[in-house]
Amino acid sequence: MPFGAYLHVPFCRRRCDYCAFATWTDRHHLAERYLAACRTQIEREAAAGLPEITSAFVGGGTPTQVAPALLLEVLDALPLAEGAEVTVECNPDDLTAEMAAAYAAGGVTRLSIGVQSMVPEVLAALGRDHDPGNVRRAVRAARSAGLAVNVDLVYGAAGETLEQWGRTVDAAIELAPDHVSAYALTVEAGTPLAADAVRHPDDDVQADEYQLATERLGAAGYDWYEISNWARPGHECRHNLLYWTGGEYLAIGCAAHGHRGGRRWWNLRTPERYVAAIEDGRSPEAGAEELDADARRVEGLQLAIRTRGGVPAREVPDGFLAELDGLVEQVDDRVVLTPEGRLLANEVAIRLG
Ligand code: SF4
Repeated sequence: MPFGAYLHVPFCRRRCDYCAFATWTDRHHLAERYLAACRTQIEREAAAGLPEITSAFVGGGTPTQVAPALLLEVLDALPLAEGAEVTVECNPDDLTAEMAAAYAAGGVTRLSIGVQSMVPEVLAALGRDHDPGNVRRAVRAARSAGLAVNVDLVYGAAGETLEQWGRTVDAAIELAPDHVSAYALTVEAGTPLAADAVRHPDDDVQADEYQLATERLGAAGYDWYEISNWARPGHECRHNLLYWTGGEYLAIGCAAHGHRGGRRWWNLRTPERYVAAIEDGRSPEAGAEELDADARRVEGLQLAIRTRGGVPAREVPDGFLAELDGLVEQVDDRVVLTPEGRLLANEVAIRLG
């Protein structure tokens, strides 16, 4: 059985104004204690009994804001299975050839590079300031270390034209990554973007941008396999597939979410409280919920419909195919989204409830 581990690194150099993640720009002084606490949490979980971990994902925040050696000490405590997929999210400005080599030597297999856009004006509109030239250097560094590469893109920034988005997609394809994630910019409550309605993304523009990505990535040999994800055959992200198939995973670090045995939990949100809990010998959990069998079944369908495999035809409600004609279709014994349906996946998923 696959079993994952998510490790959260809550430090960023600066805050992007659309971001609602648990991350801080003024807590780097905590990094060493924080990662030591993460290691202690893993050691405690392992002592209580852990299956072998088939995939680990280090996200944030910005994992490349901490020294690779510190991060690798945490990963070293995980009981990784032979051939486990181990991904680290990277900021292209931070990643050097030395860092990539250190990750590879420490068991990391895959880097997920936060590209967002390859057009400087669009990056500025997103409140990001990295140089697209650094993306090329970062991908080269990952490749020379023998690591698989994902590039993360975002579409729908204020003022982004279809032509600019096309340039980003083409530039991403030119980088020849193994995997591409393209996310629609969303407005998260409480962010500076939420307070600035003029810069909110336009649904129609985003729909055109999504279609452009679908066409160009497909033509370049990237298979669509989840709403926002494309991969060369065999390079689908095993860790993300765990999330989409109701799989089980540990939550390491502040604000991380876990799922095991029908129970979901989440850790204390701030790094200070997380470190204090671990150092005091307490559990870092902030809350948990148990889903009953029916809620789990519905949630499983709602996640699965977003993927290439869709849901079993026998599981969809009566009239589902007829009511959502054009948005879903039956392929053998599965019901899957059509390309138009992918644009309205949330609405389709709700009808499975
Ligand atoms: S770098 Fe990523 S995690 Fe950090 S503020 Fe920006 S979007 Fe959020």
